[in-house]
Amino acid sequence: MKIHEYQAKELLRRAKVAVPESIVARTAAEAAAAFKKLGGEIAVVKAQIHAGGRGKGTIKSNSEQRGVQLVKSADEAEKVAKNILGNELVTIQTGAEGKTVNQVLVEAGCDIARELYLGIVIDRAVGLPVLMVSSEGGMNIEDVAAETPELIFKEHFDPDTGLQPYQVRKLCHKLAITGKSVRSAESFMRSMCKLFVELDCSLVEINPLVVTGSGELIALDAKITFDENAMFRHPDLAELRDIAEEDPAEVRAGQAGLSYVQLEGNIGCLVNGAGLAMSTMDLIKLHGGEPANFLDVGGGAQVDQVTEAFRILLADKNVKAVLVNIFGGIMRCTTIANAVLEAYKQVGFNVPLVVRLEGTEVAEGRKILSESDVDIITATDLTDAANKVVAAAG
Ligand code: ADP
Ligand code: MG
Repeated sequence: MKIHEYQAKELLRRAKVAVPESIVARTAAEAAAAFKKLGGEIAVVKAQIHAGGRGKGTIKSNSEQRGVQLVKSADEAEKVAKNILGNELVTIQTGAEGKTVNQVLVEAGCDIARELYLGIVIDRAVGLPVLMVSSEGGMNIEDVAAETPELIFKEHFDPDTGLQPYQVRKLCHKLAITGKSVRSAESFMRSMCKLFVELDCSLVEINPLVVTGSGELIALDAKITFDENAMFRHPDLAELRDIAEEDPAEVRAGQAGLSYVQLEGNIGCLVNGAGLAMSTMDLIKLHGGEPANFLDVGGGAQVDQVTEAFRILLADKNVKAVLVNIFGGIMRCTTIANAVLEAYKQVGFNVPLVVRLEGTEVAEGRKILSESDVDIITATDLTDAANKVVAAAG
């Protein structure tokens, strides 16, 4: 689960990690008031969306306006907020359609001496969280990793004992952090690692992590993603969810207890089991098609859930054909067959439907379908199903 920069910074403040003073504004007038309240000569107006690259990103309807901008007066803050709020911001992470900005963060201008990078993720190969830092802050870290990987330094740490002081000193040496900044770095890095573990994060990224003119370390940007499997331990964090930022089809699917991920292709997939869903997508690609989604209806889905799954698939304008690929284990083929009929009754099929059923109650399931008046292309096996659906999608 992703959260906004302003929410992440609030969590950082609580963990005693240094962040600049800032105020959230939802109207241009609030942005002007925020500038005055901060009381400095310089502030930065920052669009709040669940995507990075805002500083280089531009507003869709006004390519002059970037998503992060320095302002020097309340009037200017108001003008910039007006340009940004309610409009779509397009960055390298949003896709061409951009994301609507519903709030901006007005933040005190920071005196930047150096821009570093700090990130924490789980290293699955090692089985430990890993702290990564780089001297190349403010840049796209994927580019740094590709072009100058020697400038990224890593330290794994034990989740119970946390990052050790000697590890901080090692990293400070690599980053050429000296003098009193070492103390600031120690508190910063160790608090970040602690926060990562305590809040069950899957990602924490501070880019840039700034060394100020007076040698303090401060988080200028903050991105936090939580492990959704651990959300039951953090009811307070669940409140930070912003559904407006999420894909509406994915939200609907989540409410129906379905695992759904929107993709860019034109073949809708309705499958039971994550493994079968992955191999179905592979097969579609192998035969020259592009899946429009990943959808796992799960083992114990009921007719109404599967009907909802059809509704979500068929509502996607990109979908030109649907492949139903079911291996009945706990899930019965009759449940799927009845759901197909129910969905046909409720929403109708505007695109060809290819069905491959196998497993529990398959004969009964096939019979239900063949005796109905729903127009279905039946497939005998996986390859046959993939070929037929790719042909049907054109
Ligand atoms: P994004 O990563 O989405 O582009 P950032 O929060 O990293 O957004 O901001 C982009 C750049 O804007 C930063 O690299 C930094 O140079 C500048 N910036 C951001 N916040 C401030 C601030 N409070 N004071 C001064 N400069 C800032
Ligand atoms: Mg950034």
